[in-house]
Amino acid sequence: MNKMKKIVSVVVASLVISALTFPVLAEPSSSYYQNKQNEALQNSQQTQTQLNNVEGEIDEVLQEVANLNASILEYEGQIQQLTEKSQELEKSIAQKEKELAEKKKTLENRLVAMYMKKETTFLDVVLSGNLMNFISNQDLIKQAADYDNKLITEVEELKTSLQNEKEEIEKVKAEKEQKTQELQSLKSQKEQKAANLTEEQKKLESQLSEYKAQAEQYAALERQAIAKEEAAKKAAEEAARKAAASKSSSSSSNTSTSSSSNTVVSSYSGGKLGWPVPSSSRITSQYGYRILFGVKDFHTGIDIGAAQGTNIVAAESGTVILASYGWNGGYGNYVIINHGNGITTRYAHASKLYVSVGQTVSKGQVIAAVGETGNAYGAHLHFETRLNGVHKNPLNYL
Ligand SMILES: [Zn+2]
Repeated sequence: MNKMKKIVSVVVASLVISALTFPVLAEPSSSYYQNKQNEALQNSQQTQTQLNNVEGEIDEVLQEVANLNASILEYEGQIQQLTEKSQELEKSIAQKEKELAEKKKTLENRLVAMYMKKETTFLDVVLSGNLMNFISNQDLIKQAADYDNKLITEVEELKTSLQNEKEEIEKVKAEKEQKTQELQSLKSQKEQKAANLTEEQKKLESQLSEYKAQAEQYAALERQAIAKEEAAKKAAEEAARKAAASKSSSSSSNTSTSSSSNTVVSSYSGGKLGWPVPSSSRITSQYGYRILFGVKDFHTGIDIGAAQGTNIVAAESGTVILASYGWNGGYGNYVIINHGNGITTRYAHASKLYVSVGQTVSKGQVIAAVGETGNAYGAHLHFETRLNGVHKNPLNYL
C-alpha cells in the first residue's frame, strides 16, 4: 500500500542521509537489499495466493447467483401457470353457479305446477272424466322434479370440486411464492457477498502491485549496492597491490596486511615500539609456554602488572582497527592498532577504552586504562605484538 511505500522510501532516504552525514555508518549491504527483495517477493506470493482464493470464491458465488436466478425464473413460470389455471377454474365455477341458478328456477317452476295440480279437487277431476290424465300428469311432474333435483346436486358437486381444485392451486401457488421470496433474499445475500469479495479482490490487487514494486525497488538498490561493493573491492585490491609493490624493495617477506583495514597507515618506523604502560615496567608473565592452573599453555603476549585505571599508551603511531567492550574470547575490553608493514599491537583486559575504530593515534597517546576484564586475574595489561596476524614476542619489538 501507499503507507508501506512511504515507509520504505523514508527508510531508504534516511539511510542515504545518514550515510552522507556519518560516513562511519555503512550503507546497507547488497545482501540486506537481497533479503528485503525476497521478503517483498514472499509477500507478493502470499498475496497472489489470497487473490486466487478470492477470485475462486467470486466465481463460485456468481455461479450460485446464476443458479438461484434460474430457479426463481422457473418458479415464476410455474406461478404464472397456476394463476391462469386458477382463473379458468374461477370462470368454470361462475358458469356452474349460473347453471345452478337456472336449474333451480326450472325445479321451482315444476314444483309450482305440481302444487297447482294438487289444488284441483278430486271432484273436479271426476267431473271432468279426466282421472287417468290427472294421475299421469302428477307422476310426470314429480319425475321431472326429481330429475331437476338430481341435476342440481350434480352441478353443486361439480362446483364444489372445482372450488376445491382452485383452493389447492392457490395453496401451491402461495407455497411457490414463498419459496421464490426465499430464493430472492438468498440471491441478494449472494450478490452482496460477491460485491464484498470484489472489494477484497481490488485491495489484494493493489497490495500485490505494491509488493511487486517494492521487490523491483529493492532489486535496483541491490544492483547498486553490488556495484559499489565490487568497486570498493577492486579499489582495495589495487591499494594492496600498490602497497606490496612499494614495500617489496624494503622488506622481502611481505604478504598482505590484516584484511580488516584498508587504511593506509604512516609507515612503521621500523625501530622500536614504545613501552605501553609508562608507569610500570613489571612483567608478570612472559611470552611463550607457561603452566597455568597445572595446564601447559602458550602465552601470546606479555603481562604488565599495574593498578586498575593506569594509563595504557599506543606503542607506535597507527590506526585503531578494533576497540571493543565485552568478553571478546577472553581478551575483555581491548584495542588493536595497525601500525602498517603488517604489524599490529593488542592491549587487553582494559577497564576503559579511550579510542574508537578508525581513529589515528600517535605513539605514546593514552588509548585505554588497565583493568581485569575478560579472562584475567588481577589488574594487568596483556600486550601482544603480531606480524601479519601471527603473534610474536613483544620484547623483540620493544
Ligand atoms: Zn597475558
